[in-house]
Amino acid sequence: MTTGAKRDYYEVLGVSRGASPDEIKKAFRRLARQYHPDVNKDEGAEAKFKEINEAYEVLSDEQKRAMYDRFGHSVPGSGGGYDPFGGGDAFSTIFDAFFGGAAGGRTQRGPQRGADLRYNLKLSFEEAIFGCEREIEFRRLENCPTCKGNGAEPGTDPVRCPKCGGSGEVRQRAPLFNMVTVTTCDSCSGTGYVIPMPCRECRGEGRVRQSRRITVKVPAGVDSSQQIRISGEGEAGPRGGIPGNLYVALDVQPHALFVRDGNDIILELKLNVAQAALGEELEVPTLDGPERLRIPPGTQTGQSFRLRGKGVPFLRQSGRGDQIVVSRVMVPNRLNDHQRKLFQELARTFDPEDQGEHDEGFFGRIKDALGL
Ligand SMILES: [Zn+2]
Ligand SMILES: [Zn+2]
Repeated sequence: MTTGAKRDYYEVLGVSRGASPDEIKKAFRRLARQYHPDVNKDEGAEAKFKEINEAYEVLSDEQKRAMYDRFGHSVPGSGGGYDPFGGGDAFSTIFDAFFGGAAGGRTQRGPQRGADLRYNLKLSFEEAIFGCEREIEFRRLENCPTCKGNGAEPGTDPVRCPKCGGSGEVRQRAPLFNMVTVTTCDSCSGTGYVIPMPCRECRGEGRVRQSRRITVKVPAGVDSSQQIRISGEGEAGPRGGIPGNLYVALDVQPHALFVRDGNDIILELKLNVAQAALGEELEVPTLDGPERLRIPPGTQTGQSFRLRGKGVPFLRQSGRGDQIVVSRVMVPNRLNDHQRKLFQELARTFDPEDQGEHDEGFFGRIKDALGL
């Protein structure tokens, strides 16, 4: 898997040598999104993605970065060549980065665990609120059907690794200190066996990239930035390793009328001056269809009304939030002659003294908003 001359890790991420950890992280995320093999089908994207991951794994780790700064790609003491990947597991690296170690479980010995995958699922506002079932399709590495995942050509078998005798590790005694060092066997990469006749379909890798279709159950009450973990639906582990997980990241679309605030739904209700002044019983839209709401006389802009239990269901619990209807009194910006006359007539009936309270209320609200 070594590909001749390696590019400088800083160059790979497009950052300066003095870049801060935050700059490195940002550069990595941007590039990883751009070249993730699930997104980018261009030839060479996967190799590029691997390169980005490798660079990030080193530059994001203070110690590894210091070593790299000093020794470049030829880090001493790692048994010839520096392979921070431990077997080229590109996906688990990105998942460590995105989900804080969700991939985990990567071991040095025995078959490796398959990589985790991420799928971005777009949901409508209602689908997120009430839950749904969605069929998704994605490509992943699966156990090779020809060799059943062991990497050996049908009719042949993997054999015990002659170098380590099947243990996957090599013990060396350092004569000077009488210490035993244990390292992963490089001849079998720690699996304990080698394949004399590699399977032609998968070239001994034991896995082939295939399309997979599954139905995802989205529970009621989810929101953007949440993800659903589906155990074992990630990539197959190389040569019989346990599969990784699939993480379905949710992206909930906004609604034309409703705005979500946690488990509550906010609806702005426009009232004309007459409705606000006189009060009225009217119909307002809710997630469950139209609902009657009584607006009392003298309703002001910003006044809110609560429709209990008409909000978003609590995730994996019973009960729902509320719908909060916030009124907004609309002053007409155009009047016909008749309306103007009526307003003029109305104006004469108002006692100028009576305006004071409302003005203060209005300015009071502004003061509150400005924190004065
Ligand atoms: Zn095969
Ligand atoms: Zn071995």
